[in-house]
Amino acid sequence: MITVAEAIQIIKEQTRRLSPERVEIEDALGRFLAEDIIADCDLPPFDRSQMDGYAVRAADIQEPPVRLRIVGESAAGAGWHNELLAGQAVRIMTGAPVPNGADTVQQVEFTRELDEGASVEIQHTADLGRSIVRRADEIRSGETVLRAGERINAAMMAVLASFGYAKVSVGQEPRVAVLATGSELVPVSQKPGQDQIRDSNNYSIGAYAALAGASVELMPLAGDDPGRLKPQITSAAERSDVVVTSGGVSMGVYDFTKTALNELGAEIFFERVSLRPGKPIVFARLPNGVLVFGLPGNPVSVSVTFNLFARTSLLAMQGALEPALEEEWAILERSVKGSDRESYLPGQIRTGEAGHLLAQPLKWGGSSDFVALARANVLIKVPAGVAMLEIGTTVRVVRLPS
Ligand code: AMP
Ligand code: MG
Repeated sequence: MITVAEAIQIIKEQTRRLSPERVEIEDALGRFLAEDIIADCDLPPFDRSQMDGYAVRAADIQEPPVRLRIVGESAAGAGWHNELLAGQAVRIMTGAPVPNGADTVQQVEFTRELDEGASVEIQHTADLGRSIVRRADEIRSGETVLRAGERINAAMMAVLASFGYAKVSVGQEPRVAVLATGSELVPVSQKPGQDQIRDSNNYSIGAYAALAGASVELMPLAGDDPGRLKPQITSAAERSDVVVTSGGVSMGVYDFTKTALNELGAEIFFERVSLRPGKPIVFARLPNGVLVFGLPGNPVSVSVTFNLFARTSLLAMQGALEPALEEEWAILERSVKGSDRESYLPGQIRTGEAGHLLAQPLKWGGSSDFVALARANVLIKVPAGVAMLEIGTTVRVVRLPS
């Protein structure tokens, strides 16, 4: 059986990047940059005042109080473009250009206007350069500010705007079709009858896929009828880049997903991974090039296998710099059992008093316990072949997307 790392390697090799597209800046949030973002101007573009006050020469205000003659006003968007001389001051506002000849801004709180605004008394000294941000201090024209493959967050929107990216090139959103198998399933709007449960996987998979940047379509429930499953998979593959199924990949008599994929002529790259939970997991490609992730049915297995495998593929399709889940170190607050397979156990992390991350494994009833999973924010990794990790052990945890 292949390891998790080997499975991820295969997925990366088999995933093709979708061609980038140009979108309006308004639609760029959450997308992956397909181009480097270059500053097209210095920022600030001129020596800029950080305060409301008076632009002066530092040499003039070393022995306060001093009286300076007000020769003009520099406002944001309307500067004073003459040379400031010794003994002079210019009234200046936050964001306004500092006039030539001035080297310091004294804030208004340390001043008092006199002679009906003709002069100003500076009551405190200020160091040379005080309250001035020099031209290009923040960024110089031509510098690379953001890199292709970074995901655009809210703060980055300001960067795009500042450098004139009214349109920006981003990775195309993969289209994901989500398909649940299982004769026991009824739609969420329906009251389950005898031996039935509501479908929940379609909703968690759909949500995780959306968090991974995909557009999502939920297909009708497919039951456990191979005659229905095959056309459903075909129809899902006609309208998507990736099909994600759940259930029907184990060894049961009614587990038809692999059979259906085989009969459709899919190339199956793997069907089992040394992983707990989530050992039966199918990764395949249909003849039309659409990738298929056949996840197991158990809701916790779904979360683990989607986020380890399908998410990686979806991010790689968009050209993400870093398609893997974020990993960090944490200290175990309770001992956990391992197995011969690598385990990814739902847990909650929080910061302890000493500033370390603490990981609390969730009490859960096994891979079907999606109620416990609802409180998880990480998966705790237990290496293969480790029977038990004791309380206090430092472990690797991967963040579940949220
Ligand atoms: P399977 O992998 O098909 O054997 O399913 C394993 C377990 O997951 C069974 O208990 C199923 O009832 C359950 N299950 C399968 N699909 C879903 C679903 N879409 N929503 C909720 N539970 C499911
Ligand atoms: Mg089933």
